[in-house]
Order: sequence, then structure tokens, then C-alpha cells
Amino acid sequence: MLIKTAIVMVAVYLLYRLAKYAIKKKLEKLLNRTMKPEIKNSGQLVQCGKCGTWVNEQDAIKKRGLVYCSRTCLPD
Ligand SMILES: [Zn+2]
Repeated sequence: MLIKTAIVMVAVYLLYRLAKYAIKKKLEKLLNRTMKPEIKNSGQLVQCGKCGTWVNEQDAIKKRGLVYCSRTCLPD
């Protein structure tokens, strides 16, 4: 009787863990999908030192204290 109760308790606990894990994964997926564009847009904009194009700081190329929009604008 006691063993049966223990088995049921373990099974319930495992199911609870599994459900919690599944919900967490689902939420993470949902959050990632909704937050990704926001993160990209929240990046600081910097101006290219050569052509003046505004680019995301993460996409910009930094050299000697100046930023450039792409390799084509990099000085030799
Ligand atoms: Zn440029």
C-alpha cells in the first residue's frame, strides 16, 4: 500500500516536472519569436564615417575610433 502511494507520488511528480519543462520551452519559443525583432531594433544606430549611412551598431565595422557601414567603406 505504501509502495503504491510512493509510486503514484513519483509519477505525479515526474508528470509535474515534464509539464513544467514543456510549458517553459513553449514560453521561451514564444518569447524568442516576439522579442527578436525588438532586440534588433533597440540597437544603437551609428553613422558611417565615409558615406554617412546609419547602421545598427552590431552591424557596423569599427576601425580607429570610426565606424563604417560595410567593408566597401573601410579605408585602405
Ligand atoms: Zn558607408
